[in-house]
Amino acid sequence: MLEYDVAIVGAGPIGGYVAGKIAEKKFKVALFEKHKQIGTPVNCAGLVTKRVFDFIDIPKKNVVQNEIKGAHIHSPSGNILTIGGDKVHALVIDRSKFDREIIKKSEEKGTEIFLESNVLSAQKSRNHIELKTSQDHDIKCKLLVGADGPYSKIRDRFALSEPTEFLRGIGAEITNTNINPDFVEIFVGKNIAPGFFAWIIPTNKHGTEARAGLCINQDSSYSPKHYFSKFFKSNYSLPYLKDVKITKHIGGIVPLGALKKTYTSNVLVVGDAAAQVKPTSGGGIYTGLLCASHCSTIAIEALQKNDFTSQFLKKYHKLWYANIGRELYLGMKFRKIYKNLTDKQMDKYIEKFQNLKITEIISKYGDIDYPSKLVKPLLKKTPSLLKLLPSILKE
Ligand SMILES: Cc1cc2nc3c(=O)[nH]c(=O)nc-3n(C[C@H](O)[C@H](O)[C@H](O)COP(=O)(O)OP(=O)(O)OC[C@H]3O[C@@H](n4cnc5c(N)ncnc54)[C@H](O)[C@@H]3O)c2cc1C
Repeated sequence: MLEYDVAIVGAGPIGGYVAGKIAEKKFKVALFEKHKQIGTPVNCAGLVTKRVFDFIDIPKKNVVQNEIKGAHIHSPSGNILTIGGDKVHALVIDRSKFDREIIKKSEEKGTEIFLESNVLSAQKSRNHIELKTSQDHDIKCKLLVGADGPYSKIRDRFALSEPTEFLRGIGAEITNTNINPDFVEIFVGKNIAPGFFAWIIPTNKHGTEARAGLCINQDSSYSPKHYFSKFFKSNYSLPYLKDVKITKHIGGIVPLGALKKTYTSNVLVVGDAAAQVKPTSGGGIYTGLLCASHCSTIAIEALQKNDFTSQFLKKYHKLWYANIGRELYLGMKFRKIYKNLTDKQMDKYIEKFQNLKITEIISKYGDIDYPSKLVKPLLKKTPSLLKLLPSILKE
């Protein structure tokens, strides 16, 4: 039996980050990944804010492909609302490279990495956890961290709560585009991407390569593939997608509605496994890393104190919740409003925003990681938006 202080399931960015943080304190850390290679398959559009780089010690130039200054939001009837454009609001990263760099750093700090090692079972046994992997390894650890993505086995095995919903995503890397490299194109509407939105993100500074994709509600009548092929033919997106070549397909699930409980004795869950994802954009890298920083802090304290009780590990839940919990909670409230908007209402609001020239407000207060910061200034400028509030307050 192989013995570790900590075993981490899932070598995505979040598992890799937590592993590195704990290993640098000289604890014995094992990181298990079911795939053969780190960073593939890619299930991500790769749009992040520069805050992500506050957590990880990777030179931006190694992974950043492009800088984004604004967005064009295309309404269901084809109106276009321009927001931003003034400064860099987001970065486009090569997600495969990003994951590989995080894991490389983690390994340099002492993490032992097991590839092609699917964790099949986890069993609590007195004051430790025993794992079995597809490589027939028997592992014993004091602390188990589930960073195993949207359909986390660790979350289910230890009966932690479930995300509220799972969006279904699909996308592709495309070349031969002729788009504005400074802007992402966002398309909304029930026929485009029911319950969420579609995107085209320029991945180079020339506007000749991009990532196109969309997410839909889990209960949508048709498959993501259906909407994706329609997206390439829609009148509004066609000018951006005509004659493009698809070089790679991506897919994936976005869990929304952060878990009510992310710990139990000897176990923590983090990242997508805990649905620590922004409900308004589906972005989980920044929020996941933020929560991962609390996860590693408490894991280290638990190891130093040799205390793996549920009572002690609860500190992790309290810390991440105090930091980003309210934002994620409000995000779910905005999402509820957004999901219930008809195409007609979306058109109406987009038109209203266009007329009110809210670009300035969005440029000043807009923050992809903290969309709630925009609410007060927007309501001040557009009091009629208050009509939407009763549905939030009812909750
Ligand atoms: C279509 C789409 C677009 C997205 N776009 C963005 C974006 O633009 N910006 C952004 O910030 N976020 C985006 N996200 C979300 C982002 O990809 C996730 O939030 C992020 O990957 C979470 O990282 P993680 O490490 O928690 O989980 P993951 O990246 O899912 O990593 C989990 C790892 O665990 C492994 N694993 C699972 N089970 C086991 C097991 N039993 N044994 C061993 N290994 C296991 C998996 O193979 C995987 O490597 C997008 C997601 C989708 C689906």
